[in-house]
Amino acid sequence: MIGVTVLGSTGSIGTSTLDVLRRHPGQFRVVALAANSSVDKLLEQVVEFQPPYAVLVDRTAAEQLRQHIANNGLATEVLDGADALEVVASLSQVDAVMAAIVGAAGLRSALAAATSGKRVLLANKESLVVAGQLFMDAVEQHQATLLPIDSEHNAIFQCMPADRSKEGVRRILLTASGGPFRNASVNDLQQVTPEQACAHPNWDMGRKISVDSATMMNKGLEVIEAHWLFDLAPRDIQVVVHPQSVIHSMVEYVDGSVLAQMGNPDMRTPIAHALSWPDRIDSGVASLDLFEIARLDFQQPDFERFPSLQLAYDAVAAGGVIPAVLNAANEVAVDAFLAGRIPFVTIPRLNQAVMESAEQMQPQSIGHLLEVDQRSRRQAEQILPQMV
Ligand code: NAD
Ligand code: MG
Repeated sequence: MIGVTVLGSTGSIGTSTLDVLRRHPGQFRVVALAANSSVDKLLEQVVEFQPPYAVLVDRTAAEQLRQHIANNGLATEVLDGADALEVVASLSQVDAVMAAIVGAAGLRSALAAATSGKRVLLANKESLVVAGQLFMDAVEQHQATLLPIDSEHNAIFQCMPADRSKEGVRRILLTASGGPFRNASVNDLQQVTPEQACAHPNWDMGRKISVDSATMMNKGLEVIEAHWLFDLAPRDIQVVVHPQSVIHSMVEYVDGSVLAQMGNPDMRTPIAHALSWPDRIDSGVASLDLFEIARLDFQQPDFERFPSLQLAYDAVAAGGVIPAVLNAANEVAVDAFLAGRIPFVTIPRLNQAVMESAEQMQPQSIGHLLEVDQRSRRQAEQILPQMV
């Protein structure tokens, strides 16, 4: 039995992960489920999977969960606080960790899984954006197995040479749906609401990544993620807008071959792939109906309507702490937009302003990067009122 910890189990990726695990009770055992504060959702999951451990970061919520678990006569031990995430990511009975917390808040626990040499199923792309080099070093040093969950990166992983070298690879083609505002004019973008931004045409995701998809910052974060995962220069990562989200990304080789991974847009495919790699297991995803899809379209990305994508290319070119600065600014900007404090078009403006005011440094440690993260958040909050 493969022991699994699911970090962010109550979210979109977390619930899809549990859906795959529930199909294979003889193969996987849930050791720990962890979330931020959603008591009812986590309780439901604890009742179903009966893991030895459950974590809620919020202490009041954790206390409520503890009471409910006692009332239900269950044996699950409830841990609380952010440190508990690292504890359940490194338990000896855990083989695989799904890192599906949203934002830089997921960095420490994903890293704990890597430093304990686990199979790390990485959905939390922000970990690599903030701490790419240190994270990849930890994976190598502790012989962890890093498998990408992000559908594009999982597709690239599947299309890369089997020996995991870059032998003969010319470039990668990173597909993007274009989000809900793919055809919106600059003028339309001034007016968009959080509800419109979160209504993604192809994927059903958490609110933060949905807004990132709408600004195309998500694709920018993914360029940085691909740079670290596959050791490729940003100029060898071409973003291709592909509205149907059927091709999840492609790898082009020097002989002109282009390998694509396709499937219905359902995260259970990359999740099942990473859980069972190098084997294959059923994910519950329906067969791809090519006759129904009928056609596939491709477009150039528009850096003018979606300036966040350019900011990400600039950040990865700058290196050092700048990608961490951009990520922090963006988390503040997205929260502010969702709370109705700033218009949609202010998100990239705030990101750019924080990035331009940042001091470049080489990251010395994770602690240093988390300081930069906090400082950049304060800077974003300070600039924000002048940007509305
Ligand atoms: P979500 O908002 O649906 O879920 C987030 C989960 O993280 C929840 O369980 C929540 O309780 C937990 N969480 C939030 N803040 C936390 C904190 N401070 N400490 C501990 N736990 C916390 O998000 P999601 O859409 O599932 O995305 C999760 C991650 O996966 C993100 O990094 C996202 O970019 C990535 N991802 C998601 C998708 C998708 O289809 N949803 C696709 C690719 C990558
Ligand atoms: Mg993606």
